[in-house]
Amino acid sequence: MNAPVLVINCGSSSIKYALIDSDPQAPRLAGLAERLGSSDARLKGKNSAGESFTQPLPNADHAEALNAILQRLEGRVPGAVGHRIVHGGEHFTQAALVDDSVIEAIETTAALAPLHNPANLAGIAATRKVFPELPQVAVFDTAFHQTLPPRAYRYALPEALYTEHGIRRYGFHGTSHAFVSQRAGELSSRGAGGWLTAHLGNGCSTAAVWNNQSLDTSMGLTPLEGLVMGTRSGDVDPGLHAHLHRQLGWSVDEIDNVLNKQSGLLGLSGLTNDMREVEDQAMAGHPGAKLALDVFCYRIAKSLAALSCALPTLDGVIFTGGIGENSPIVRREVLALLPHFGFSLDEAANEATIRGKEGKLDSAGHSGPEVWVIPTDEEGRIAMETRHCVETPE
Ligand code: ADP
Repeated sequence: MNAPVLVINCGSSSIKYALIDSDPQAPRLAGLAERLGSSDARLKGKNSAGESFTQPLPNADHAEALNAILQRLEGRVPGAVGHRIVHGGEHFTQAALVDDSVIEAIETTAALAPLHNPANLAGIAATRKVFPELPQVAVFDTAFHQTLPPRAYRYALPEALYTEHGIRRYGFHGTSHAFVSQRAGELSSRGAGGWLTAHLGNGCSTAAVWNNQSLDTSMGLTPLEGLVMGTRSGDVDPGLHAHLHRQLGWSVDEIDNVLNKQSGLLGLSGLTNDMREVEDQAMAGHPGAKLALDVFCYRIAKSLAALSCALPTLDGVIFTGGIGENSPIVRREVLALLPHFGFSLDEAANEATIRGKEGKLDSAGHSGPEVWVIPTDEEGRIAMETRHCVETPE
């Protein structure tokens, strides 16, 4: 298929899109329709000349926004549409060509991702209406982690909670962990091997990848487990919920809201969920920001050390996501907490590898596990999987 792929990431009130050519170097048309359903709904993006535009779309719904996006594709006709779907449960181990049975299976997993899957499905429905003739492919955040062995995905809970209700660890950010670990395998002389990946953005997760297969990851049943994130707590004592309910009278929804929206960097710093600001304030001596940075880095190091148990050999660590790609401070602090792993960071390379640069950060002549920064490309990976799925249907 030579035609470009339209990648769609549909939220409850937004649609992120990118038109991606089969030549990965070709420029992309990309943008975001946001605040859908409200009077200040709008479409923002860039054209092929790199010029930004903002188009008001008052009260537009998803289908109207897709029609507006279609007008922004500058006459280029997509050959397929790739949808980012958050939760594929145990049903989907890879991308799937959308038909009624696939939609039904995504609907059944909606209980596991009540905020995300229904929005993703609304995106598929609207896209089918606007592009009835195009093949649609569902690409799942969870699919890459379906290779986890039971010892990594099972919680120590009564079996029926797993067998009857699907309570297990699923993991997320799969397209990102898959993309960066595969890229490291291509760039490094060590090949596919054993890689620890750290996707550090607003959401954060780590993964242990062996021979292009995920063997463990820090997120679990939901994207709340694991690392400290922008506004998410990551791991807390499982007894916390009962404690907050009994002692403070908080409802399940209140607890959920605090752990998802008011915790993480924001909760610890008392300032912001934005790592740039946390770093600036920490440098200026703000105690909350210093603590937030400290806890954030310590928890990443602890998670990487724990996940190393999943790998037969350790070939290196990969940093990606907005923070992983841009923060020499976080990379330095994390690696300083792992002295026994034998990493050797070249400070100049660490400082210089920012703003979308890809590179190895090792000191010259170092032979231990490698340190890489690889800018993630979730959209590119979704386009690649979509193309593959359309060209080689099962
Ligand atoms: P998302 O998970 O929403 O895709 P990103 O991957 O873009 O988010 O990551 C956003 C995070 O990256 C924010 O915390 C932001 O502060 C951080 N970030 C971006 N640039 C820098 C930088 N130069 N230094 C430190 N953190 C940065």
